[in-house]
Amino acid sequence: MEKLAIYPGTFDPVTNGHIDIILRASELFDKVVVTVARNLSKQPLFTTDERVALLIESLKDFKNVTVDSFDGLVVDHAHAVNASAIIRGLRAVSDFEYEFQMALMNRKLAEDITTVFLMPNEKYTYLNSSIVRNLAEFGSDVSEFVPKVVVNALKEKMRR
Ligand code: ADP
Repeated sequence: MEKLAIYPGTFDPVTNGHIDIILRASELFDKVVVTVARNLSKQPLFTTDERVALLIESLKDFKNVTVDSFDGLVVDHAHAVNASAIIRGLRAVSDFEYEFQMALMNRKLAEDITTVFLMPNEKYTYLNSSIVRNLAEFGSDVSEFVPKVVVNALKEKMRR
């Protein structure tokens, strides 16, 4: 049977750190669904459709990775797409507490779904979407941290 995993997140926007995790997951699982969370209490810079489009473009070379979005509980979406695993990235100890809590809660909600933590290359451990948004806001070059399509999308956003 095919092993499927979902990688849920905000991806506002996708960074090279996310892509590092997706590459690792795509080597471990038959299929990976990168899934953009819709219902956010925080106001994202990019709309759900924009975040999905940026992911699709950034991941076009991955043969076993697809992108979608969801509203609601991650475990419900995992069941809906027949995934047996949830992928999360762990950058540093600071991620641990929150991720640990989420993983245990998700296990309580759905025992058949396992959270798998992957560590990115250490050069990405300091990277997150909010730092990228801040840098872009102040006109800094972010091409080292995000795919080209995201560099352009950020420039376009900041112009408005
Ligand atoms: P969320 O808002 O749910 O944290 P993100 O899109 O920021 O969503 O992140 C999704 C997942 O990717 C989380 O597990 C997060 O820890 C992980 N992640 C984000 N940035 C990196 C990075 N630079 N390296 C490794 N994992 C990362």
